[in-house]
Amino acid sequence: MIVFNLQCRKNHVFEAWFRDSSAYDEQAEAGELACPTCGSRKIEKALMAPRLGPSGKSGHPVDEEPGQKAVMETQQAGEAMNALRELREKIERNCDYVGPSFAEEARKIHYGETDPRSIYGETSSEDAEALKEEGVSFGRVPWVPDRDS
Ligand SMILES: [Zn+2]
Repeated sequence: MIVFNLQCRKNHVFEAWFRDSSAYDEQAEAGELACPTCGSRKIEKALMAPRLGPSGKSGHPVDEEPGQKAVMETQQAGEAMNALRELREKIERNCDYVGPSFAEEARKIHYGETDPRSIYGETSSEDAEALKEEGVSFGRVPWVPDRDS
């Protein structure tokens, strides 16, 4: 016997047991499979394991328009977000926050007008371009919101 996670068109996921995988194919082709929740006979194998994400929201799938990207915090996306949050925390712990005067401060450090230190802050794209042209090395990080906000 073999168990499959199956899914109807309304995204009800359910488990069904089959003699073997060809038995699934036969029953699916014969239209013998039906969703226990809504009775739909449009059944296919569910590609995803049950959601393990931290959001705990029930999975009402968003209607995706072509060309739009949506990120849900499933396990993998959650890990990436956690990595970014950790990065943010490290930066906040180890660097001085200089706010919108980042470009100014970065220049001072670059030209030795002030003690070298790690800073972070905001800068406009024009300032960022200018800094790059002057050879000031800095990076940009995606700033993710705190978990609680
Ligand atoms: Zn259903």
